[in-house]
Amino acid sequence: MTLTIGFIGLGNMGGPMAANLVEAGHQVTGYDLAPEALRQAETAGVRPAASAAAAARQADVVISMLPAGRHVLAAYAELLPSARPGTLFVDCSTIDVADAREAHDLAVRAGQRAVDAPVSGGVVGATAASLTFMVGAEKAEFAAVKPVLAVMGRKVVHCGAAGAGQAAKICNNMILGISMIAVSEAFVLGESLGLSHQALFDVASTASGQCWALTSNCPVPGPVPASPANRDYAAGFAAALMAKDLGLAAGAAEAAGLPTELGRKAAQLYADFASSEGSGLDFSAIITTFGKDTA
Ligand code: NAD
Repeated sequence: MTLTIGFIGLGNMGGPMAANLVEAGHQVTGYDLAPEALRQAETAGVRPAASAAAAARQADVVISMLPAGRHVLAAYAELLPSARPGTLFVDCSTIDVADAREAHDLAVRAGQRAVDAPVSGGVVGATAASLTFMVGAEKAEFAAVKPVLAVMGRKVVHCGAAGAGQAAKICNNMILGISMIAVSEAFVLGESLGLSHQALFDVASTASGQCWALTSNCPVPGPVPASPANRDYAAGFAAALMAKDLGLAAGAAEAAGLPTELGRKAAQLYADFASSEGSGLDFSAIITTFGKDTA
């Protein structure tokens, strides 16, 4: 079925996601504050709108892919009254769980339907339509959104009610941030003990140390040729985005009264790294800061 889709936020992720919806035959009207992002999307077949409200007006589905919760809530204030009643709002941004629930409640109070559907897979996954979607939605809304998300991704998981998609996203990325630090510390320690990177990789990748940070995004050059370590840590998944996601996890833990000690430590290490030498680099580059200051 061809749908009319409003797409708000056509940046690194939203641009290729919108292009895949066009490719699948949907009629996509897009809006971005940045004229260059809008122009780029237009070349992929997205119809440019003059405002967010204009992109939402005729839509069956409104998808947002924005930097943070405050952008989503600000955009919803404009979008919700502009769309036809019963429009399905799908926020794919990574935002705070509390903001996601607030966005959902605002939408429902405005007579709209809403789900949170953050993604994993990065720009490569957005381009190749191989993203994983983590969805917070009621049953009926999940059934409605699943075929739309399936156009942009390979896996669509129903995580629970509103906010559950964001909860899954920040918990997953807390695992990833901590495990990248663990893998990096192990390589630095191994090297200081005279162990080659390849030897440690050959053991850990097939033993109990196995994890994605090691086998897909290995922080040292050599063992995994496609990992960012082999191209001067060009992102990949930027350290700044990891810092953002770990900050969201730490904030959620604090609100829940949980210590999550490693999660908080990882958030602090990544915040420091992303605001200094790690700015613009892949998150695996954090290994370059280890092994210093050990005197
Ligand atoms: P981006 O900065 O490239 O794109 C965001 C776009 O939103 C920009 O083009 C900006 O101009 C636009 N924008 C901001 N406010 C707007 C508004 N009010 N109306 C219209 N447009 C507006 O960011 P991105 O990398 O595409 O990330 C988007 C979201 O996806 C973030 O929440 C991020 O955490 C999440 N995410 C990113 C990745 C990744 O690898 N880049 C992976 C997973 C999740």
